[in-house]
Amino acid sequence: MQLVTFAAIPYYMTFQDLNLSSELISQLEKNQFSKPTPIQQQAITPILEGKDVMGIAKTGSGKTLAYVLPLLDRLKNQSSENREIQALVMVPTRELAVQVSDAIILFSKALKNPLITMAVYGGVSINPQMMKMNTVDILLATPGRLLELMEKNAVKVASTKILVLDEADKMLSAGFKEEMDQIFNRLPSKKQTLLFSATLSNKVSEIKRQLLKDPVVIDVQVPEEDLSLIKQIGYRVTPEKKGILLRHLIEEHDMQQVLIFCSSTYQVEHVNDKLNTNGITSKAVHGKKAQGTRQSHLNDFKDADSDVRCLVTTDLLSRGIDIEFLPFVINYELPRSPKDYIHRIGRTGRAEKPGTVFTLVTPEDAHHMRVIQKKTKMKVWMEDLEEWNS
Ligand code: ADP
Ligand code: MG
Repeated sequence: MQLVTFAAIPYYMTFQDLNLSSELISQLEKNQFSKPTPIQQQAITPILEGKDVMGIAKTGSGKTLAYVLPLLDRLKNQSSENREIQALVMVPTRELAVQVSDAIILFSKALKNPLITMAVYGGVSINPQMMKMNTVDILLATPGRLLELMEKNAVKVASTKILVLDEADKMLSAGFKEEMDQIFNRLPSKKQTLLFSATLSNKVSEIKRQLLKDPVVIDVQVPEEDLSLIKQIGYRVTPEKKGILLRHLIEEHDMQQVLIFCSSTYQVEHVNDKLNTNGITSKAVHGKKAQGTRQSHLNDFKDADSDVRCLVTTDLLSRGIDIEFLPFVINYELPRSPKDYIHRIGRTGRAEKPGTVFTLVTPEDAHHMRVIQKKTKMKVWMEDLEEWNS
């Protein structure tokens, strides 16, 4: 096993140094990607060499392209007339499946023979997905829908050469275990496996033993100054004053784009309604909404020209979602797991752009907030706002 650390990175490395094909390099240039991020610098070469890779790097540090670019290069001459799945990329949510497939399509279309990419996920009709399946080279999938398709014999995975688990710790967590075990059983044992996440421990030997063969483990350490990209402020507040404090923060900081996290769908709806009745345009996204609505609210929120200022959501959108230049995140309620805290705040401070996170902390949350800080090794500056608490 090789362990590569941050110190080994030559900062002047370019995409040309990474032996990617010229079509991909010109597509990178066209899209203003000027130099590879640390995880890209270190993961692309071993993936091109066909090695299994476990890549750990902070939120917003370009993990998607770290696997997408070499994956396309490895598969670019493989596509056949009667297509079977060449690569399977698994992600935890439908919105992330769409986002990653968009990234793959952007680069695949630059190839002489573009690889056909499709995202499959639940909440939408399965028939159109089944009909297109025999034209697909690269399949993006959430576990539930992939299993459904497998059970209907609609997807041919016997030739899968590359398996990627994005948000790997989530994909391998208890919530997905049963489905993922069934999926692993149906995949060929000889394949290249790539795991990526910001919160994967390089010590998870069980995972390494079961899924990876002689992996290259890349753990990009976060230098101190990177953490300061995300300013974290906590406010001590009583539960009944949360709504008014939320609106105060939005107006005080003139927030035009803020992602607000709650812990239940009920609370998401409540906070969203309150914002709208107070004249602050807001949309709600959670697991009980129709898929079309979920995606269109997210798209509206991402669109800098739309009048939607707030998106209120659950941890559904805490993983992987990339909103360009998102300046603000608010934790209206604390997440249960410290890992979720890392992913929530990681929706801002992406691609070297700064961001601010406000967390509302009730007296009951105080202990949990300290646990989160200890576990994440992050310091949240706590403020008292007497006028809101009195
Ligand atoms: P992660 O998966 O590590 O959280 P993403 O892959 O979603 O991060 O990338 C975060 C953002 O950084 C995206 O908007 C992506 O387009 C951008 N990005 C990726 N690679 C580069 C690069 N080499 N240079 C500049 N921006 C990049
Ligand atoms: Mg990601």
